[in-house]
Amino acid sequence: MNQQFEYINPQSLDEAVKLAGQGSVYAGGTDLLGLMKNDIAHPQRLVNLKALPELKAVERQKGKGLRLGALVTLNELAENEMLQKDFPAISQAAGSAASPQLRNVGTLGGNLCQRPRCWYFRGDFDCLRKGGATCFAMDGENKYHCVVGGDGCYIVHPSDMAVALLALEAKLEIYGPGGQRLLPISHFYVLPEDDPTVETVLQPGEIITSVIVPEQPVGSRSVFVKFRERSAWDFAVVSVAAALQVQNGAISGGKIALGGVAPVPWLDKKLNNTLAGTALDENGINKIAASALTDAEPLEQNGYKVILARNMIKGVLQSLAG
Ligand SMILES: Cc1cc2nc3c(=O)[nH]c(=O)nc-3n(C[C@H](O)[C@H](O)[C@H](O)COP(=O)(O)OP(=O)(O)OC[C@H]3O[C@@H](n4cnc5c(N)ncnc54)[C@H](O)[C@@H]3O)c2cc1C
Ligand code: SF4
Repeated sequence: MNQQFEYINPQSLDEAVKLAGQGSVYAGGTDLLGLMKNDIAHPQRLVNLKALPELKAVERQKGKGLRLGALVTLNELAENEMLQKDFPAISQAAGSAASPQLRNVGTLGGNLCQRPRCWYFRGDFDCLRKGGATCFAMDGENKYHCVVGGDGCYIVHPSDMAVALLALEAKLEIYGPGGQRLLPISHFYVLPEDDPTVETVLQPGEIITSVIVPEQPVGSRSVFVKFRERSAWDFAVVSVAAALQVQNGAISGGKIALGGVAPVPWLDKKLNNTLAGTALDENGINKIAASALTDAEPLEQNGYKVILARNMIKGVLQSLAG
């Protein structure tokens, strides 16, 4: 389909917000253009965020943590030496996403807001997420779909960055027609039970301007690992991000987030409640891994994800213990 749209370079963030209300913001375009080509997105106006260089900064302020501009590319995050040293989960997640070419163009904000990869959604199927009446994955090809949190729609959220940032308890700075708001990333994504047609709480005209990552307590360690079917540029089948504090051989605080298992980046309650006070020895690691996804309800083809996630959690904890 030949789509007509206007393409605008705003002069300021305020102008971008005003114009984006009746269109879509455009960052690297690596997801949005695919959605337009596949006849899923039909914006009448693209508001080019790249015209706003103030969204491109990586800053670290003592006591306040990190501020990552929404326009920072995945490649810049992967190659930043300060992040590699002090926030490795961020650079590891960025470096594992997509291909080198896509990482050069794809931005942090776009990565967090990309739409799901469910092949029915991306294909010519009028499924629930596109306003139809049915989920075709529920009784169809569901090997890569979610095992928990699905309710009518069984997507997994595709963003690797979101999983790492959830473990690090990041917040999103959002600017829109109603002014600025700061939202924990744990409140950003929407479960199908609340609304199966959107993935985030962003309102028309709202733009993520930056991601704030709190300074991690002394002794914290973070890591992101991802299992993919092909060795390069593939979305996570399952991913695990941990940002944990360890004292005297036991976990004293922090979080583990899971990707590839739920429609949103997932903070499994039982898993996270098991962390504090548990020793990082074989028994403790087995106990923590076994507490993950106990309420999973896999579909016909994806029960393997529960075992895979638990084994990946074990591997992550062993690496942090070593
Ligand atoms: C072949 C392929 C493989 C991939 N593999 C992976 C992978 O393994 N892991 C992974 O995490 N991702 C993967 N991706 C996704 C890729 O990382 C994203 O397409 C990219 O990060 C999106 O960034 P962008 O700047 O190009 O976003 P765009 O395409 O410009 O925008 C995407 C969406 O976000 C919105 N948006 C963009 N910026 C903002 C903002 N600041 N505020 C509010 N809304 C905004 C846009 O309106 C649009 O709806 C893959 C993509 C492809 C095509
Ligand atoms: S899982 Fe969601 S996006 Fe995929 S077919 Fe079902 S309703 Fe559509």
